[in-house]
Amino acid sequence: MPSITTRISPSLERRLLQRGVGALVAGRATCHDCGRTPLVGELIHHYASGRMACALCKRVRREDPVSSELVRGSEFGHAVRITDRPAAAA
Ligand SMILES: [Zn+2]
Repeated sequence: MPSITTRISPSLERRLLQRGVGALVAGRATCHDCGRTPLVGELIHHYASGRMACALCKRVRREDPVSSELVRGSEFGHAVRITDRPAAAA
């Protein structure tokens, strides 16, 4: 009896792999300057132009970033959370 690996055609396997890699690439943020995907624990910087730069490319940019954030791993989820809450009324 053939195993499952011999029953899947190589072209189907290749298409599924390309689709999976494409989905991963589409969901990640990359540095505008070097194209690198920032590492977990690295600071990334957002600029007024809407561009994002990694910590390495920040050094060569003349403008100051509007905001910076820490790249978190998947254990923190992929949703954007607001952590800066306004002070409660006294
Ligand atoms: Zn970069």
